[in-house]
Amino acid sequence: MKTIFEKNKNLHSKPFLCEEIKFNKRITPLNLPDTTELEVMRHYKELSDRNFCIEKGFYPLGSCTMKYNPRANEAAARLDDFLNLHPLQDDKDCQGALELMYDLEQALKIITGMDAITLQPCAGAHGEFCAMNIVKKYFEKDKKRKKVIIPDNAHGTNPMSAKMNGFECVEVKSDQNGGVDFERLKELFNTNGEEIAAIMMTNPNTLGLFDENILQISELMHKNGSLLYYDGANLNAVMGHTNPRLMGFDIVHLNLHKTFSTPHGGGGPGAGPVGVIKELEPYLPVPTIEFDGEKYFRNYDKKHSIGKVSTFYGNFSVFIRAYTYILMMGNNLKNASSDAVLAANYIKEKLKKYFKLPYDRTCMHEFVLSGDLQKEKGVSTLMMAKRLMDSNCHPPTVYFPLIVHEAMMIEPCESETKEVLDNFIQTMIEIAREAQNEPEKFGEYPLTTPVLKADETLAARHLNTKYEFNN
Ligand SMILES: *Cc1c(COP(=O)(O)O)cnc(C)c1O
Repeated sequence: MKTIFEKNKNLHSKPFLCEEIKFNKRITPLNLPDTTELEVMRHYKELSDRNFCIEKGFYPLGSCTMKYNPRANEAAARLDDFLNLHPLQDDKDCQGALELMYDLEQALKIITGMDAITLQPCAGAHGEFCAMNIVKKYFEKDKKRKKVIIPDNAHGTNPMSAKMNGFECVEVKSDQNGGVDFERLKELFNTNGEEIAAIMMTNPNTLGLFDENILQISELMHKNGSLLYYDGANLNAVMGHTNPRLMGFDIVHLNLHKTFSTPHGGGGPGAGPVGVIKELEPYLPVPTIEFDGEKYFRNYDKKHSIGKVSTFYGNFSVFIRAYTYILMMGNNLKNASSDAVLAANYIKEKLKKYFKLPYDRTCMHEFVLSGDLQKEKGVSTLMMAKRLMDSNCHPPTVYFPLIVHEAMMIEPCESETKEVLDNFIQTMIEIAREAQNEPEKFGEYPLTTPVLKADETLAARHLNTKYEFNN
């Protein structure tokens, strides 16, 4: 590891000379690393070995849907004809790529029940921003509509997307079942009805619970002329069983990188398509991908469009992966959701004797435990998460949603065998026992990872992602 850096310590240290830039001609020799190909391979292999990934072990990171990414997706995304496309090529020279985008939109329309889709946004949060921009445009003539209702367990990107589009966020608390407090919602409408533009909901929500009042909520919203926004990050719970349209939603974003099995983490790349009902279709970003019966084309001629939201058309390689996955799965998408829900309920039932379960009801594809019982012994959720890392398991999402103390949000996905789930359950039970009997041990974990116990505050306040040899 060190040699490669040692040898090249001064790499990039020599500035370019002005003449070189002016005449576009190099005078000083190129400062290339002095390494063999083998050394480089070892360096990157070592870095990849230090990393944790779904191919290495169980990854129940709640809300992130870390399912298996089939290799067939990768093979398709690496086909030469896709790889070598240029985004500025004429429509006639990239009919295949346009057809793939068009077909993917058709598939997403069926899955969500929406009337039109744009693939352009490059992440879930980007999709939210784009969608709330559409909501803003829709209410352009109704200046009073400046409030957006957001439940207290929403993902942080929801209020941010509303706020960045100039809306004011109104929080609505959850009831004891973990759903939106419907009585409270009704009160908001009685007092502020004419100001409410939309509600942003995740269903199932971030507690992994399906809001059973959703039809009453959508009726209340629509009667008031307000829109319902669906955060589709949890779509893996309901595919083929129901869809946001049937629940009464008007506009949705999806996370192709979560639900449709494309690799994510560490910042992307992702794709956050937005789906809308007919009334909102005119506002979708340009270009739209269309088919005139003979050829596919990009249409920029949309008078009411919010404009472009990406430099080009979104992350095309993610579309290929999601499209391949959807074609391979077909009707089995429905089984993927059933299996994800079954796996989550299985783990929940086995662990609820050992950890506090704040909402004890059937969950969807994920559920949230509280570490309160262990915290009484001085063992926090963070300490337990570190301990899990010593068992070749990625920790669950911790301390989110904010409404559960010492939260652990567990999402197993459909791709794991029962042995893997049982193994995780066993490890969690051991952790609960150890917290009870030997809480002092938790100060030291993790003991086996490439980076041991990190200083969390320092890492958060003074993040340094550079490799510095002298350190
Ligand atoms: C992941 C997630 C988002 C944001 O999606 P990104 O693709 O990470 O930008 C929004 N809402 C929920 C509930 C999520 O889990």
